[in-house]
Amino acid sequence: MPVRTYTQFIGGQPVDGPGRGTIERRSPSSGLPVARYCEGTTDDVDLAVDAARAAFEEGPWPRLSGMERAVILNRLAGLIHDNRDRLVQIEVEEAGKPIRFARGDLDGAVGLTRYAASLAMQMSGSTYTNLGPDRTALLTREPIGVVALVTPWNFPALIVAQKMPFALAAGCTVVLKPSEFTSGTAFEIAELATQAGIPAGVFNVVSGYGATVGDHLTSHPGVDFVSFTGSTRTGRQVVGNTARNLVKSSVELGGKSASIVFSDADLDAAVDGALTGVFFNNGECCISGSRLFVQSSIADEFVARVVDRSRRIVVGDPFDEATDIGALIDERHLDRVMGFVRSGVDEGAQLLLGGRLAAGTAGHFLEATIFDRVDPKMTIFREEIFGPVLSITRFDTVEDAVRLANDTTYGLSNYVWSKNIDTVLTVSRRLKSGWVQANTAIDGAPQLPLTGVKGSGFGYEMGQAGFEEFTQLKTLLIHTGPRVPVFRN
Ligand code: NDP
Repeated sequence: MPVRTYTQFIGGQPVDGPGRGTIERRSPSSGLPVARYCEGTTDDVDLAVDAARAAFEEGPWPRLSGMERAVILNRLAGLIHDNRDRLVQIEVEEAGKPIRFARGDLDGAVGLTRYAASLAMQMSGSTYTNLGPDRTALLTREPIGVVALVTPWNFPALIVAQKMPFALAAGCTVVLKPSEFTSGTAFEIAELATQAGIPAGVFNVVSGYGATVGDHLTSHPGVDFVSFTGSTRTGRQVVGNTARNLVKSSVELGGKSASIVFSDADLDAAVDGALTGVFFNNGECCISGSRLFVQSSIADEFVARVVDRSRRIVVGDPFDEATDIGALIDERHLDRVMGFVRSGVDEGAQLLLGGRLAAGTAGHFLEATIFDRVDPKMTIFREEIFGPVLSITRFDTVEDAVRLANDTTYGLSNYVWSKNIDTVLTVSRRLKSGWVQANTAIDGAPQLPLTGVKGSGFGYEMGQAGFEEFTQLKTLLIHTGPRVPVFRN
């Protein structure tokens, strides 16, 4: 594919011109330039927020029926499906993720858009007729307004689809700032949205750096709600920005999830689940099961099987169908991940596998890496690594497993492996995380909301709860018949 060039997409138009720089994206696997995005300015953000505001206050989108919005969103889902191969190619080039996972991401984006379309038709409130004979109340649900979406680089199209169609289904208008590394599919989807019939100004995309475009957008007084996905550090800044404007936010942040394997688990499934948990998407996954807890009675055998399977993991060209782990997003991130690997060795964890750059590769490729005997005091136990690095810790009792899993500042997801429903339910209920998956890993469906607790953020994404984030309840209390005066004279 030739190098793709994207301008800003504001008010249904490409916007470019003097005063803006260019961000060149080089493929993390080949090192070659693959895309040029506009380096947006704060003026671009102002223009985009104005366009979204005009579309919200005066345009047709919020005034269409739910059915009309659903038809258009379903058309968008169809267009994403029809253009899947091109979008997959862009994701692989820009993000370095293995092609079979990129296909899954785009299929996921289609499913999310279709599900959001169905919610457009179900948007409703409730009625109270139990307030006495002369009072009736209607709770109506309205679109929250102009929303700012800020997305990270690890699932560029998928995370856009976790937010944008839900916002649009509710009747909101949107300004999206994608990651500076992976903005391509956001612009492509905006173009498809126009083809689908989404009116000008409803879906605007501004590329650029987080410190300028992201910061200005999330502190903009013209924005009614900010939905952010990214690191906990940036999430704190975003919440600070929205707090100053007294604007609602939803922040989906980092994680340090646990896969807990009990001795009565289906061990074949649990081995594959442990690998999926940590190596899926190069380990660059917010719900990565990067800490593996194994019950001591099966630990030696289980760890040996995990290591044996991991030796067969193919690291390399993300366009190769056989590849399991592609290129990490950029050199700085690779250095950071390698720093964690060094800290694991220095702090006394036992390196069982990997820890080196993959042989015979030119890009940012790290071998599947496994540490055993990891202690809760070690850096690799505590910090989100965001790479293909697994930390293994052994435990004896249910109490130990719960205590270890909860010993983190994060609380996004956890995985429990046991055939005993008592164990699954007891442990799941005690885990402090927004999501628990039992006997499966990195699973999900558009109907199921994602949320974090503790340092993993707050607010909901996907599902009915995610949709409702983009809405506002209004209470209408109606008095009928004669009213007893409050003031007598
Ligand atoms: P960052 O927090 O660095 O960036 C996320 C987005 O925020 C990017 O678009 C970035 O722009 C932008 N940004 C950066 N600084 C600011 C700012 N001051 N104000 C507003 N926006 C800003 O995260 P990464 O892109 O590195 O993504 C990885 C992180 O995302 C991990 O911690 C991961 O766990 C988390 N994540 C969480 C998920 C969840 O659902 N909980 C899902 C996926 C990832 P730019 O790229 O230009 O810097």
